[in-house]
Amino acid sequence: MIGSIAPQERVLVTGGTRGIGLATAQKLTADGFEVWITGRSKRESIPTQAEAFHYLQADFSLPEDVTKLCEIVREIGFHALVNNAGINIVAPLLQLSEEDLDLVFTVNVRAAFQLTRAVLPKMLDSDYGRICNVASIWGLKSLSGRAAYSTSKFALRGLTAAIAAEFAPNGILANCVAPGFIDTELTRSVLGDDGIQKISTQIPMKRLGSVSEIAEMIAWLVSTNNSYMTGQTVTVDGGYLGA
Ligand code: NDP
Repeated sequence: MIGSIAPQERVLVTGGTRGIGLATAQKLTADGFEVWITGRSKRESIPTQAEAFHYLQADFSLPEDVTKLCEIVREIGFHALVNNAGINIVAPLLQLSEEDLDLVFTVNVRAAFQLTRAVLPKMLDSDYGRICNVASIWGLKSLSGRAAYSTSKFALRGLTAAIAAEFAPNGILANCVAPGFIDTELTRSVLGDDGIQKISTQIPMKRLGSVSEIAEMIAWLVSTNNSYMTGQTVTVDGGYLGA
């Protein structure tokens, strides 16, 4: 128990204002969680659909924002954490700057590392916790132009494995979801309409995935139904990597 709250009651979803994070927040609410989300905007300017959740503002590229967020998170106490917020910079390796790498790492990995440390004390108090990190198929293999992104997503899988190894005896399970091509703003901005049409022909299921298809997997991983799976990466990609 965390205070008077039983397991599977309170979850934090980072980047919950749209895309995969929003769909996950909606699914977890339907499953009975008290859902908290994060985003960069002030509460008054978040998308209407995101207004249904408790909201914490933080830009993960700003270390001071993440430090402040972690203090609040430590105080509230969470049974489950979904590290979903993420950015992508697509560019040839020789054109990527060190600043690009730092930015992608700060948002995709450093914030997840810090937030994990913020939720752990209360999870340890209750001998219960579930952590899901949203990686990518580009955290299992790579593609030209994805040096910064792939490096960050491989790292996120490393972090997940380390959490799993260290905290399994405390009932804290950590896993990754590796989405393939999912129909979100991030994908549309990276691929464009032509790119999406082209890639769809290469996916065995001949379409992009939907955000709700990823949310289903995340929701299971952070639920009490997941009682023995930890340190894994579950790929949800319409058969792209496996077929
Ligand atoms: P979107 O771009 O649709 O949404 C990103 C979310 O992250 C938003 O809620 C945004 O909040 C938040 N965010 C972005 N930048 C920052 C930042 N600097 N600080 C804090 N929060 C930030 O992304 P998706 O839903 O497409 O992706 C979600 C996750 O899934 C990412 O980690 C991504 O790498 C991963 N993924 C996505 C795939 C896809 O096909 N879409 C495929 C594989 C993995 P706000 O704008 O409100 O600030």
